[in-house]
Amino acid sequence: MSVIYLDNNATTKVDPEVVQVMLPYLTEYYGNPSSMHTFGGQLGKAIRSSREQLAALLGADESEIVFTSCGTEGDNAAIRAALLAQPEKRHIITTQVEHPAVLNLCKQLETQGYSVTYLSVNRQGMLDLAELEASLTGNTALVTVMYANNETGVIFPIEEIGMRVKEYGAIFHVDAVQAVGKIPLNMKTSTIDMLTMSGHKIHAPKGIGALYIRRGVRFRPFLIGGHQERGRRAGTENAPGIIALGKAAELEMLHLEEATKRERKLRDRLENALLASIPDCEVNGNPMHRLPNTTNIGFKYIEGEAILLSLNQYGICASSGSACTSGSLEPSHVLRSMGLPYTILHGSIRFSLCRYTTEAEIDAVIAVMPGIVERLRALSPFKNDDASWLQGQEKAVIGARG
Ligand SMILES: *Cc1c(COP(=O)(O)O)cnc(C)c1O
Repeated sequence: MSVIYLDNNATTKVDPEVVQVMLPYLTEYYGNPSSMHTFGGQLGKAIRSSREQLAALLGADESEIVFTSCGTEGDNAAIRAALLAQPEKRHIITTQVEHPAVLNLCKQLETQGYSVTYLSVNRQGMLDLAELEASLTGNTALVTVMYANNETGVIFPIEEIGMRVKEYGAIFHVDAVQAVGKIPLNMKTSTIDMLTMSGHKIHAPKGIGALYIRRGVRFRPFLIGGHQERGRRAGTENAPGIIALGKAAELEMLHLEEATKRERKLRDRLENALLASIPDCEVNGNPMHRLPNTTNIGFKYIEGEAILLSLNQYGICASSGSACTSGSLEPSHVLRSMGLPYTILHGSIRFSLCRYTTEAEIDAVIAVMPGIVERLRALSPFKNDDASWLQGQEKAVIGARG
């Protein structure tokens, strides 16, 4: 069975052109770029041109790019560096809907003497800038906010946030893992001090990412060791990964405009068809301020995981934001922060497209979804209305605890 892959916010297929350019660096050119001999040293040139390609995508200078192993490392490195550079400041501002790479680090920092403000979002997943302004103080070392949310696709007003952050002299870090390649970025005209990106979300392999660090921003390395990356990230360079990331960045730039237009059209086609053919469902997240490739839809009175398993039987890959912690399904922290009612919280599904998504694939999903939802609702022991569904949920929770 062929796979219909609509889970591109989780990870993406490596572009065949990317595989082509990286292969020689796994076979023939396996040297260490730091070596004195020509065999290793020749990698330096390829790495330099990758750095140029990535800098071009971000509108940055090559000297401002540091290669990392992943988005999680970039987030950790940026947050720790900002705190180490300003040891007298002990306050961090972030949001309730960040990726765990930011959220769980912030929770840990709270146990180490930092105070953290977790900005709330409204029902549409949007921030209140007045809350940000009220939280900023001279003691704020760092504001770390994601560019676009991985679950809902909601885009935050990054430059409006950055302007306020700069008034207070705090460092501004942005997790742009979901924004790179989907939104045009230009660090030259931005208020962002540090920006995280990850290769495997833009058709490069897993295990490579990058951190943009604005020139002049004080930085302390996260990994301590050799002098690689101008002392900003120790460890022998992942040359095949870096070369892959450079190519992936070049392709993102090449495709950005036309691909996002196409994806938005296909995403809207999917969304509109599902909303029209399935009763009791709604889109989660602000429909205007949203990535073009993402839709998160709540189907009332059923479990998202049951929908995913049914889709899986058709080879369709999607996702729900739920995390399986200790055997019970915790609804997504993002949707919970939006204050969605329980009936929607449990039945939400994310479809995320990419430049390979075809109209035929979207139509296949449109064809099977109404039947899946109808069957699951018919199987449900509870009547499909809010009151009896909630009653059933309470019984199930009590049952699970007992
Ligand atoms: C995927 C993701 C990350 C983590 O990136 P990895 O490369 O998987 O570590 C961080 N933030 C966001 C918003 C993401 O979507």
